[in-house]
Amino acid sequence: MSRSPVPVTILGATGTVGQRLVRMLAGHPWFEIAAVAASEQSAGRRYEDAVRWREPGPVPAAVGRLTVQSCDPRPGTPIAFSALDAGPARTIEPAWAESGALVVTNASAFRMDPQVPLLVPEVNPDHLGLLAAQRQRRGWRGGIVANPNCSTAAIVLALAPLHRAFGLERLVAATMQAVSGAGYPGVPSLDILASVIPYIAGEEDKVERETRKLLGTVAGEQVADAPITVSAHTNRVPAVDGHLAVVSAGFARPVSPDEARETLEQFRAPRGVAELPSTPERPIEVDDRPARPQTRLDVDRGAGMTVTVGRIRRCPVLGLRLVLLGHNLVRGAAGAAIQNAELLVASGEVGG
Ligand code: NAP
Repeated sequence: MSRSPVPVTILGATGTVGQRLVRMLAGHPWFEIAAVAASEQSAGRRYEDAVRWREPGPVPAAVGRLTVQSCDPRPGTPIAFSALDAGPARTIEPAWAESGALVVTNASAFRMDPQVPLLVPEVNPDHLGLLAAQRQRRGWRGGIVANPNCSTAAIVLALAPLHRAFGLERLVAATMQAVSGAGYPGVPSLDILASVIPYIAGEEDKVERETRKLLGTVAGEQVADAPITVSAHTNRVPAVDGHLAVVSAGFARPVSPDEARETLEQFRAPRGVAELPSTPERPIEVDDRPARPQTRLDVDRGAGMTVTVGRIRRCPVLGLRLVLLGHNLVRGAAGAAIQNAELLVASGEVGG
């Protein structure tokens, strides 16, 4: 696509997801970071002074020099990436949408709003159609588009092809989630080192509800949830990046491990999504080696946008079981938001 880059603002640019957005957007073919914004304690300082940079390599020079703004909306911004905590997102994101920006958010504040598209572009790009109803009902020139919770993103991408082919009815998912999923400073080291914490506040509810919305179908001005019974167990483990999930699934039509493997191996992004710069050639990779996927070894496949599936076998309780792994900061956050913004541009939703 030959066009001048779309100027974007990053809200929450100093946080864990915000920093990954800064690193991934520096050099992006379609977008250019025009402004960075964060809380009042960072606003007014140079970005490189305000941020506690935890990404590999230096702060991209052009961004490091920017002065961190407050999160007050500035009209004329076509796209605002939001990496805000859910609390501040509740007021800041609608204010930006009202001012004309398309807010592409990682926060959970509006994911379950009936008119907010909750997207995994390879799975449900048609849900973007909800944006028109959202704008009309709210009287906004802009709008809000969300990516799912970091575990849900990987679980849904891996299960969507099986759902389409065999009809997912019941799902039990137990996650092992990395500490970067909790932001910075996140979980205290004395709590997580050499331990597993079997509780992540609010996470199980998100996996259960967001899965049904993502796999649902647009019916008028909202999504009719997929009728899937989901039971999630979410755990924090001492990994840095990458959320692993072990799942058992029951389908309307019985599926053998070989059929499941073939379905997953054949999966490709639909036309219009496959061509986006952030869509990996293989959104799902199957690895049949007995002890894969592993968090440290497989998390960066497809530049962090590929979900790796392994250990596909019969489940004596629900029918089929497997292990899947996704990068929480890429497929589950920054990369997902960038891919959503690319979909907005490719769909003609961003002027210019
Ligand atoms: P984080 O490291 O705690 O960063 C939070 C960011 O929000 C910082 O830039 C902070 O600015 C800013 N902020 C906090 N309070 C604010 C306020 N009142 N007004 C304006 N800005 C404010 O969190 P994170 O892990 O990056 O997560 C960001 C969002 O993404 C959350 O909603 C989270 O649930 C979601 N998410 C995270 C992941 C993940 O893997 N980490 C995955 C998916 C979704 P200061 O530095 O100035 O305080």
